[in-house]
Amino acid sequence: MVETENLNPIANEAFPVARIRKATRLLQERLGTKVRLSQAERYRASFDGMKLAFQPGAVVRPRTEADIAAVLELANRHRVPVTVRGAGSSLTGSAAPVFGGWILDLSAWKKIIIDAEMGLARAQAGATVEAVQEAAAEAGWYYPPDPSSKKYCTIGGTIACNAGGMRGGRYGVTRDYVLALRGFLPTGERVQWGADVKKYACGFNLRDLWIGSEGMLGVVTEATLRLIPRPERRATLVGAFADEAAALGAVRRLLGRRILPSILEFLDRYSVRCAERASGKRLFAEKPGRPLMLVEVEGSAAEVEAQLAVVRPWLAAEAMACREAADPAEAEVLWSVRRGCSGAMFALGDAKLNEDIVVPMHHYETLAAFLETLRKSSRLPIATFGHAADGNFHVNIMYHRDNPAECARAEKAVFRLMKKVAALGGAISGEHGIGLAKTPFLRLARSEAEIGAMRAVKRALDPNGILNPGKLFDPLPVWERRPVRERLPWDHA
Ligand SMILES: Cc1cc2nc3c(=O)[nH]c(=O)nc-3n(C[C@H](O)[C@H](O)[C@H](O)COP(=O)(O)OP(=O)(O)OC[C@H]3O[C@@H](n4cnc5c(N)ncnc54)[C@H](O)[C@@H]3O)c2cc1C
Repeated sequence: MVETENLNPIANEAFPVARIRKATRLLQERLGTKVRLSQAERYRASFDGMKLAFQPGAVVRPRTEADIAAVLELANRHRVPVTVRGAGSSLTGSAAPVFGGWILDLSAWKKIIIDAEMGLARAQAGATVEAVQEAAAEAGWYYPPDPSSKKYCTIGGTIACNAGGMRGGRYGVTRDYVLALRGFLPTGERVQWGADVKKYACGFNLRDLWIGSEGMLGVVTEATLRLIPRPERRATLVGAFADEAAALGAVRRLLGRRILPSILEFLDRYSVRCAERASGKRLFAEKPGRPLMLVEVEGSAAEVEAQLAVVRPWLAAEAMACREAADPAEAEVLWSVRRGCSGAMFALGDAKLNEDIVVPMHHYETLAAFLETLRKSSRLPIATFGHAADGNFHVNIMYHRDNPAECARAEKAVFRLMKKVAALGGAISGEHGIGLAKTPFLRLARSEAEIGAMRAVKRALDPNGILNPGKLFDPLPVWERRPVRERLPWDHA
């Protein structure tokens, strides 16, 4: 169903509507049916996982590189905003065309080639992360970046967001696996950064500048990704802790022993209670509703045994109760609370501010104490889970969208959270990026000089400012726009 409310893009004098309309006619003359103008298609591309909608003037589905060059050439000549789109699973509004213009949809660019000898994957921008992982696994290789949205999100989107996931503490994030990028400068020239080799020292590293640039510095059409040998074995354990401080303090005592689990997922008591209530099941019948730590170690059989020799006694000493999965089926049971908690939180409110902050490990307990005071001062349910090996915690502030007092308290709470994170020397986003959602907080985290330098890079590569304008730099009061009420494929029931 197409919602008609709240769809208008934000008016911007740099991108007058009449000029965009004229340019869209020219684009259609050049690319024909690859330019989609139907209300339904434009609506579907008007929002991402954040659900703030801004109707684009057209959705372009290019089939060739020449099509992309044509889009960028016309966009520069007539000053039309262009927003590249993968799966639209961004949670920050980064894929929403805030000033209208054209959506460049690369979701059909799905080709993957595995080089099983070199341990490389060449993937087109629209291939999903899951498809790359599966193709790599068939050849005995492993692509470790593992966002929970991997079934949907694309290689292009994950490069643009420098996506992470649960295995980041051991394996790093998308950036750590990108060897080369092919694509287009915002001005329309075809470029390649890096090559299909494992070492490369040839001038400025614009490959890494593109990674995490949220689609503002270039269009990625294809990437060469580094693979690692597929771990042979995996062991899964879970522990219930007396409180959040006990669970988080235990992390330091494990990592300090030079053990790097592939999974070290923390769930606070509120996350656990939501999941237990929704499923009607408890992992620890005698200790319900306690904070949990889910642990996985992987590697060769010998590596797994060596890690377990440390992890088992550590968990037994630190936790009030613990379990180890005997087989993959039982491992799935241990995973059930983690998999269920995010969706189960909607019992606490119909709207969620899902922040993905990062704090240094020595401040974990300070963060836990702060979140307790934030719950009290905001009088809102706040549930936190996250990747304890790299300090990237998802803080979920729940509220009811139709309750203005709760909305105001949620807005205040998120500001307080971001200020605290900055004061602790952390990051306001570890993997989702800034997009629109975090523009109000950027200045808490980056200095004017740093923002000025980022703007200078943007001007140098995109002098007409056509590629994904309106993101990152200028604070947008996202609270003032109502999200559309749509269910997306990844939304929980
Ligand atoms: C249920 C759920 C779970 C999630 N879990 C995680 C998680 O664990 N870790 C994590 O990091 N993120 C997670 N995300 C967020 C999201 O999936 C990631 O940000 C992902 O990288 C977005 O990929 P996409 O293909 O959907 O990109 P889009 O949403 O389509 O686009 C995102 C940004 O990338 C740009 N872009 C897209 N394709 C290209 C391209 N080819 N060239 C240049 N720019 C491009 C867009 O312009 C936009 O700025 C989750 C999202 C959901 C809905």
